[in-house]
Amino acid sequence: MSKHIQAIRGMHDILPEVMPHWHHLEDNARRILTNYGYAEIRTPIVEMSELFKRSIGEVTDIVEKEMYSFEDRNGDQLSLRPEGTASCVRAVIEHGLVMQTQRLWYRGPMFRHERPQRGRYRQFNQIGAEVFGLTGPDIDLELILLTARLWQDLGLNGLRLELNSLGDPEERRRYREDLVAFLSARRAHLDPESQRRLETNPLRVLDAKHPETQAAIADAPSLLEHLGETSRTHFATIRQGLDQAGIAYRINTRLVRGLDYYNRTVFEWITEDLGAQGTVCAGGRYDGLVEQLGGRATPAVGFALGMERLVELIALAEPTRRARAHAYLVAVGERAEAASMPLAERLRDALPQLCLIRHSGGGSFKSQFKKADKSGARCALILGESELEQDLIGVKSLRDDSGQQQFDFDTLVAFLARELGGDPNQT
Ligand code: ATP
Ligand code: MG
Repeated sequence: MSKHIQAIRGMHDILPEVMPHWHHLEDNARRILTNYGYAEIRTPIVEMSELFKRSIGEVTDIVEKEMYSFEDRNGDQLSLRPEGTASCVRAVIEHGLVMQTQRLWYRGPMFRHERPQRGRYRQFNQIGAEVFGLTGPDIDLELILLTARLWQDLGLNGLRLELNSLGDPEERRRYREDLVAFLSARRAHLDPESQRRLETNPLRVLDAKHPETQAAIADAPSLLEHLGETSRTHFATIRQGLDQAGIAYRINTRLVRGLDYYNRTVFEWITEDLGAQGTVCAGGRYDGLVEQLGGRATPAVGFALGMERLVELIALAEPTRRARAHAYLVAVGERAEAASMPLAERLRDALPQLCLIRHSGGGSFKSQFKKADKSGARCALILGESELEQDLIGVKSLRDDSGQQQFDFDTLVAFLARELGGDPNQT
């Protein structure tokens, strides 16, 4: 017998049993983004490799070692997208959308060849938002408030916000000189990777996870002290807005983010409940990227959230969330079985919102009721010989012992319409 073929390491099937948690996240995110005026955009999963090299940066973990790149049959160098911002910017330039203000959002799978572990996969999903054409700190703030509202509506209380400013390119250049001087004096205490980064991308060293490196850079100069007037005011306005909204945050001068295109504001939402991979959402301003990718100079700011990590949190907060049908239609006997399909269709005609599972495969009342119970439906609809004779349908609650009732079709429709008042997907 041939060996079973299995899914690729780090790439996962998302099974029906966890789907209610995914829908909880997706439905809330979509509602909130839409209500803030963000329009959805869908871009291809594959892009020219050059797009990511030019945007994310040659000397980043993603581009150096995490991209799924290949040559296609035409000889083009292509990559599975490792993130969504670059594609979004490409699309915005390509379709001339940079001429107007754009609030956009996207959702979909991303691919990075990282070491698989809890909260870190090779195919994972993100929801992201990007705003083009606005320079003001209010829009950075709007994005943070939007995410805060999302956590609230998802029922997640334990997330904390970290904030930093990376300044503008000129401020960063001056800071870089100071930092390089500082790091060079401590070179011997840096891990080999950080020694290399010291030459190629010194800000990345601040992000090092290596304990000895972290100790060696504990007193590294802070970028915040290198900010000029405009960057300082921008940052201060965001902080004021957060205070006003009652959102707690911590300034983390080590927060530099793993992509090169950021300037000014960067932020992350972090949880302590998922072990080592605690960042569930990250974002910031990237005013230079559109121009860097060939568009006309356009300020921009955005975030991306990691859906797998959030779904894990959502499941921890409410493990029993499951999809529930309104009703499960049981039919016993040849005549009743034959009548169940037309009845189900008539009910669906009358109640387009009705979530109704029609039993299939025969069996006794007892075995069909077992299935009905297992389905999580609120009530069983019953069709047997006696119901058929009287032209009635039996209804029995599966939530309590309120006994069985008999309805004619119109009364049943009215009864189910009342049941539909609630959302079947919520417990
Ligand atoms: P990390 O520091 O965890 O590697 P990152 O800075 O590489 O994160 P971003 O590119 O900013 O992550 O992506 C935004 C979010 O997407 C992350 O905060 C995280 O929640 C999620 N994410 C990133 N990489 C992965 C992955 N390999 N598997 C699952 N989720 C991921
Ligand atoms: Mg990463």
